[in-house]
Amino acid sequence: MADHRVVILGSGPAGATAALYLSRANLRPVVYEGIQPGGQLTITTEVDNFPGFPEGVMGPELMERMKKQCERFGATFHWDAVTGVDFSQRPFRLATSSGETAECDALIIATGATARWLGLPNEDRLKGYGVSACATCDGFFFQGVPVVVVGGGDSAMEEATFLTRFASKVIVVHRRGSLRASKIMQERAARNPKLEFVWNTEVIDVHGDEKVSGVRLRNLVDGTESDLECAGLFLAIGHVPNVEAFAGALETDEAGYLRTHPRSTHTSIEGVFACGDVQDHTYRQAITAAGSGCMAALDCERWFEGNPWPPL
Ligand code: NAP
Repeated sequence: MADHRVVILGSGPAGATAALYLSRANLRPVVYEGIQPGGQLTITTEVDNFPGFPEGVMGPELMERMKKQCERFGATFHWDAVTGVDFSQRPFRLATSSGETAECDALIIATGATARWLGLPNEDRLKGYGVSACATCDGFFFQGVPVVVVGGGDSAMEEATFLTRFASKVIVVHRRGSLRASKIMQERAARNPKLEFVWNTEVIDVHGDEKVSGVRLRNLVDGTESDLECAGLFLAIGHVPNVEAFAGALETDEAGYLRTHPRSTHTSIEGVFACGDVQDHTYRQAITAAGSGCMAALDCERWFEGNPWPPL
């Protein structure tokens, strides 16, 4: 018999919601919280778009509340990360970063994705103080001030366009002379009078004592450097799904995100479910992650009850 009926990897909104539903179904889920307990929301400040909080809620507080709610129904949380899974035998065998091993009949993967950062000298210090990787989360705080967006893909166009609702001006700094974003997103951005582009340029640092006051730029054609004043620096240079622990065992899409069966959370291995940002690069919101965590719990529960595993 396995140590656990079901283990959940990750403790962001997806993992926590899966834990909530599974604990209420008496399946006693065990959650390995991962390298960032509480997930990406724990590095944001105020969350104003999670339903049920009319005054907003701080990201870390929201995640703490979710965890407490799960524990109330018997879910167990381990401050540990799973580093490898042996899917070749059942129960599945897990190895953790603290050197422990565990077995489970079913596995829910909610390991999320990590935003790419630039690694600028002052980036870490100013994260949450004007440096952000999520315009939807933080854009509202930049009313009537100029902001810079880095990137040339769909995310950059989407985030830059969204930010024009608040900012006085949005300057997209891109390292190439053309965008890789889809034509439709490019056209929408080009029509927006509040959007400006700085081409063939990289951001080499961000300025500011307590909050962002500007960025340092380097032109990649002639090597000249200059300063640009802004109150926010938004990075939209892609995300990386956190799938290292499953190295090649589960099917992924071209971008490396876990593939799930259409309209479900079943993965390419029976008894393994994926939810949240590790399988979603389109919506990437706390509420959509929570919704898919609920789906994973229900899929898992029904699988235990004998519902068949659908073909991919
Ligand atoms: P992406 O397509 O990989 O684009 C990342 C952008 O960031 C690229 O322009 C890249 O520059 C730039 N970049 C990467 N590393 C950089 C660095 N170190 N310094 C400066 N620039 C850097 O990522 P994405 O825009 O997040 O999109 C990911 C996927 O989600 C795509 O398939 C996209 O179509 C999809 N998506 C769709 C929608 C939508 O349809 N509404 C919205 C968002 C995302 P280079 O161009 O030079 O490589």
